[in-house]
Amino acid sequence: MRRARSGVETEKDVADKFDLLVIGGGSGGLAHAQRASEYGATAAVVEYGPLGGTCVNVGCVPKIVMWYAANHAHQFHHAPDYGFDVNLVGHDWGALKLRRDAYIERLNNIYANNLDKRGVTHIKGGARFVDANTVEVDGRSYRAERIVVATGGRPIVPEIPGAEMGITSDDFFELETRPKRVLLAGSGYVSVELAGVFNALGSETHVVVRKEGVLRSFDKMLAAELMQAMQNSGIALDTGVIPESVQKTDQGIVLHAEDGRSSVPVDALVWAVGRAPNTEALDVTKAGLQMDRDGFIPTDEYQRTNVENIFALGDVTGREALTPVAIAAGRRLADRLYGGMQGRHLDYRLIPTVIFSHPTIGTVGMTEDEARDEYGDDVKVYTSTFTPMYYALGEDKQRSSMKLITTGEDERVIGCHVIGEGADEMMQGFAVAIRMGATKADLDDTVAIHPTSAEELVTMR
Ligand code: FAD
Repeated sequence: MRRARSGVETEKDVADKFDLLVIGGGSGGLAHAQRASEYGATAAVVEYGPLGGTCVNVGCVPKIVMWYAANHAHQFHHAPDYGFDVNLVGHDWGALKLRRDAYIERLNNIYANNLDKRGVTHIKGGARFVDANTVEVDGRSYRAERIVVATGGRPIVPEIPGAEMGITSDDFFELETRPKRVLLAGSGYVSVELAGVFNALGSETHVVVRKEGVLRSFDKMLAAELMQAMQNSGIALDTGVIPESVQKTDQGIVLHAEDGRSSVPVDALVWAVGRAPNTEALDVTKAGLQMDRDGFIPTDEYQRTNVENIFALGDVTGREALTPVAIAAGRRLADRLYGGMQGRHLDYRLIPTVIFSHPTIGTVGMTEDEARDEYGDDVKVYTSTFTPMYYALGEDKQRSSMKLITTGEDERVIGCHVIGEGADEMMQGFAVAIRMGATKADLDDTVAIHPTSAEELVTMR
């Protein structure tokens, strides 16, 4: 590990040289720099935006606050079933935003303090490569033995006429008031999550998707159940809509599709059509760094790029775009490079994830289609659909559905998919069991917790 030597370099040179320079102060970059500095590396993080990156500022954190707000709306709706006489006067979106923003600002400060405490230098500005060991930020050069690219991504806006009239998930968090009518374009988790929030808080909500449904990379059961639940809750879903142009009319914003269909006029159009990596401004060729054709930086299982001293992690690698994945990759890389833990790396298999839709989805492992492709007739699937007791007393009956996918004679569980009440909190424990190689018999031998929804996963026949 290199240490600055006085007398050999000028004071300024020393200040601008590090063992490690991380580009991007988001989930992965901060986790890596902090862990590396705990092992004694001199580290710097370059960040042009607020510390914490996507997750803290325009992702998981403000999103979950909005999900909790939506959850309150659902519970107010069901409160009369439990004897409450609720007179709901309204919801103040602006007041919620103020509280949410204040919370995020507190988090930004905590992140800055965490860097300070560990002696990690925060370089404010945008970084671009000069060579494989040097980056430039606002005209000043910084050198490092190793450079880690953790620049994340940003929402894509389609290149069609009028697209700029739409907003992205980043802009969603800037909304001071709730649009009365909203159209979300996109089939991924961001689209269904934001649709759930708008709908629960009172907006007329429309969703359009290019293909036949939402969440196409997930198990088909989840997608089918969620689409049904969305429609039951009043969200209008149109499939096979390929956006062609956007127009502002007296009645509102209208999306026109290639097949001649047009949306109803809305007050806000939200593009939720995917994310692109933040690599354009990096000048990666100066460092000899390769990108794939979409601009992601490919890495091997050790987060190594094609350049020996440059690593990449998190969303910019095009792997599972989740905060805990970026953090885990960052920490493990530091453990390996600075903590002497040879061979330590993130195992990208069996990553659990939750979609904060209404109802929530929790999932880990293979979809049924993937399992059948890989294991053929060795696959055995267990399913259960039921109405949770929470809905027992009222008219509104939201179904829950679960699926366990097993393979082999010992029926090792290789996939677990849940949509319904509590799926978000349920999945973490099951993910541990599945990672440890749990079989169907292990689940069956586990005594159920009653009365819960989770008990269905250990009582399926
Ligand atoms: P980021 O957190 O995006 O950090 C990258 C940082 O690099 C940014 O701060 C950026 O400003 C900075 N940067 C970029 N280029 C430069 C440059 N040239 N110089 C200096 N700085 C630069 N994940 C979950 O696990 N759970 C969720 O519930 C969840 N919800 C989400 C909801 C939404 C709406 C979105 C958009 C994402 C959500 N995610 C969620 C995904 C999660 O936010 C990302 O996977 C995670 O933030 C990736 O971390 P990262 O470190 O790779 O990148």
